[in-house]
Amino acid sequence: MVKAEGVCKSFGQLDVLKGIDLEVAPREVMCVIGPSGSGKSTFLRCVNHLEKINAGRLWVDGELIGYREKGGKLHELRDREVSAQRRDIGMVFQRFNLFPHMTALENVIEAPIQVKGLRRDAARDLGAAQLERVGLGDRVHSYPNQLSGGQQQRVAIARALAMEPKLMLFDEPTSALDPELVGEVLDVMRGLAESGMTMLVVTHEMGFAREVGDTLVFMDDGVVVEAGAPRRMLADPQHERTKAFLSKVL
Ligand code: ATP
Ligand code: MG
Repeated sequence: MVKAEGVCKSFGQLDVLKGIDLEVAPREVMCVIGPSGSGKSTFLRCVNHLEKINAGRLWVDGELIGYREKGGKLHELRDREVSAQRRDIGMVFQRFNLFPHMTALENVIEAPIQVKGLRRDAARDLGAAQLERVGLGDRVHSYPNQLSGGQQQRVAIARALAMEPKLMLFDEPTSALDPELVGEVLDVMRGLAESGMTMLVVTHEMGFAREVGDTLVFMDDGVVVEAGAPRRMLADPQHERTKAFLSKVL
C-alpha cells in the first residue's frame, strides 16, 4: 500500500531524511518510533505530499505521489492531482485541529461535502455512522469545547475516516492527551486495525506498537536503523542505537 524508495528530504542545509526505504502491505499496521528530530513527522508528511521529497520515490496504492514519471523523468503533478491523491490518505495529528465553531458531525461531514460533493443528507448519515464507529454516536451535536481531548481526537479520526481513505497516517495521536484519555483513542485505533485498515503510526505507545503493530520501525537521524516484528525487536533489538533508545522509553 505504501512503498518508499530512497526517500530524501532536506530543509535548506539540514538533511532530515537520508534515504528511507519502507514498504507497508495492505492491512498492515506499521508503527514508527525514534528520538525527537529523527524525521518521523517529516516522513509521514512526505507520504501525503505535504512535504516535497528531494530524491527517491513514494507510492501509495501503486500511485507515485506528487509526480508523474515520463521517459525516466519526474514531472510534478498539478495541485488538483495532488489533492486527488491526498483524498485517499487520512491523517490524524497530535493536535486535533477541529473547527471550533462546528459540531462533531459538521466537522466530520465538511470534507465529504466540500471535496467529494456528497449531498448533505447522505453526508449526515455517513458522518453519524463514522462517529458511531469511534464511540461518539451520542455526541454528534457537541462542539469541540464541549468534548474531552480524547473525544476530540476520536472526532478527528472519524473525520479522516469519512473520506473513506485507503491509508491512515497517525502522527503521535495520543501525545497531547491527558494519560487517562490515551486508552480510548488507542482502542479506536485498535478497532480500526482489526477492521483491516492500513495504518502508518508514529507513536510513543510501546504497548500499542507491541500488540497492534505488525511491524515496528526505529528511525534515527533520518534513516531506518532497524525494522521488524514488534515483539522481537522490543525484546531483542539488534542495533546499539535501538538498544539505547529503547532503554530510555521502555
Ligand atoms: P518529534 O518526535 O519531536 O516529533 P520527529 O522525528 O517527528 O520529531 P521531524 O518533525 O520530522 O522530527 O523533524 C526532523 C528535523 O527536521 C528537525 O530537526 C526539525 O527541526 C526539522 N524540520 C522539520 N520541519 C521543518 C521545516 N518545515 N523547516 C525546517 N526544518 C524542519
Ligand atoms: Mg514528530
